[in-house]
Amino acid sequence: MKKIDCNKCPDMKFCCQTGAWVDLEEAKRILELKLPGKFYEFKKDKDYPSGYRIGTSVGYNACTFLTPDGLCSIHIADYSRKPAHCIEFPYEKGKIAPFTGELCILALDKKYKKKKTKKNK
Ligand code: SF4
Repeated sequence: MKKIDCNKCPDMKFCCQTGAWVDLEEAKRILELKLPGKFYEFKKDKDYPSGYRIGTSVGYNACTFLTPDGLCSIHIADYSRKPAHCIEFPYEKGKIAPFTGELCILALDKKYKKKKTKKNK
């Protein structure tokens, strides 16, 4: 599996446009920070350690925890509370995460380059 290096991304906030799913216990720790971001759609989900997940809300085409400068406010306040999905993206459980092709500029670049290469053959 090829590694994607986020440090080479020209727009590091691009993958924050849909927000993130967060384990309920992670969400509780984030709420303690009293940041302006919000959560929505609380659901049972056995794939999460607590058995529940909740999404970070999206407003103006980006996660509500994103600052106007395009930085993650959770990351700034306390990196240890940043959602596991966000730390791991564009990977999930050691594999390329679903939607990487839509949310990762570097992965998009690779797709684009592949298409271009095929067209030129
Ligand atoms: S929690 Fe932070 S890193 Fe995750 S999507 Fe929101 S702004 Fe981006």
